[in-house]
Amino acid sequence: MKNILYDYYSKDLSVKVSTAKRAKMKRGEYIGGHVPFGLRKHPSIKNKLELDPEAAGIVRHVFELAINGMKTAEIAAQLNEEEVVTPGAYFQKTHPDTRKFRNTTEQMSWNSTMVLKILQQEMYYGAVVGHKRKGTEVGWKHSIAVPKDEQVIVEGMHESIVTKEEFLKANEVVRKMKSPSSRIARDYPLRTVARCAGCGRALQYYPRLKRPYYLCNSSKYAVETVCCQEKMYEDVINEAVWQALQSLFALSDELSGRLKKKKAALGNDQEAYRLSIAEMQRKLTKLNTDKFANMDRYMSGEMDKTVYLKLRSEMDQQIASLSESITALERKLQAVQAEASDEASTVLANIKKYAGEKQLTNEMVLAFIKKVLITDGEHIEIQWNFSDVFLQYLKTE
Ligand SMILES: [Zn+2]
Repeated sequence: MKNILYDYYSKDLSVKVSTAKRAKMKRGEYIGGHVPFGLRKHPSIKNKLELDPEAAGIVRHVFELAINGMKTAEIAAQLNEEEVVTPGAYFQKTHPDTRKFRNTTEQMSWNSTMVLKILQQEMYYGAVVGHKRKGTEVGWKHSIAVPKDEQVIVEGMHESIVTKEEFLKANEVVRKMKSPSSRIARDYPLRTVARCAGCGRALQYYPRLKRPYYLCNSSKYAVETVCCQEKMYEDVINEAVWQALQSLFALSDELSGRLKKKKAALGNDQEAYRLSIAEMQRKLTKLNTDKFANMDRYMSGEMDKTVYLKLRSEMDQQIASLSESITALERKLQAVQAEASDEASTVLANIKKYAGEKQLTNEMVLAFIKKVLITDGEHIEIQWNFSDVFLQYLKTE
């Protein structure tokens, strides 16, 4: 059985994003949900952001350190030394009721990924970056439209923390520092799971600052190839993986409810299903034997043709219905077995652990996903870490 639980198709964007929303994005109004560290929603003007002075000061500090030539890891170390509050901890402080960032490492101390994230945030020089929202539905099969066009960037829409020149300068410095084996390249969320759907090989990750992407290296040398030869952009693929994980996380309550409810009756259920299946299989074997016996009788002239045909059609019907019942029961048994196994509890514990996360991390991906097979930027297939039995359990009502 193939673990295809997540079909991902990108169709025409214009169908999905309303023209009103687009117009807003073009006007530079902020319609995204998450506001970057250092900014906050304007108290009175809708769809407008303003500076959050304390956090903005930290952002400014990060840019200055970068412009002075420090590596992202060095900046992180310096911030930790200075005991500067992290974006996660700051978010917790300013939003005490939220679960976001709670118990995550992001809250504890700075790392180079966090520094880089700040240095790459174009909204700090006053641009509003239009969010790429997609129409999604909860469930295993999704249809998500991903915008083909680039992010909408409008400059000068709110007070800036840095100038565009400073922004570009800081990014140039960081880019220069980066060697191919840099920390950033090793830290991407789909590390070890991103595969080419054509040849099955691991995809090469290109950690470009502007827009990182994947390429299948084997496609470079082959004349005729099944591999995608275009850049497969990380943001698009990560978003699909993120949505798939969110769908899984959404099952958490149901999963734990089912787990609790059924655990009690578990032993009895298993035994009952096993007995029923065995009984039905006995009947099935008997039917098949009788069917052949009848055929022998008919061939030898002991049985009339009309009678034989009538019996045969009756038996075929019984055989079909028995086989169906056996399959259904086997599925139920598998579900019960999955509940009996530790896997459901393990998955549930992992869901609880990662459900509050704000962004995709490699650790989180590896906890649930075996492979992400990428055909192109629009078709990906996610293979979960789960056993077939557990997958069946997930799909069982
Ligand atoms: Zn390939």
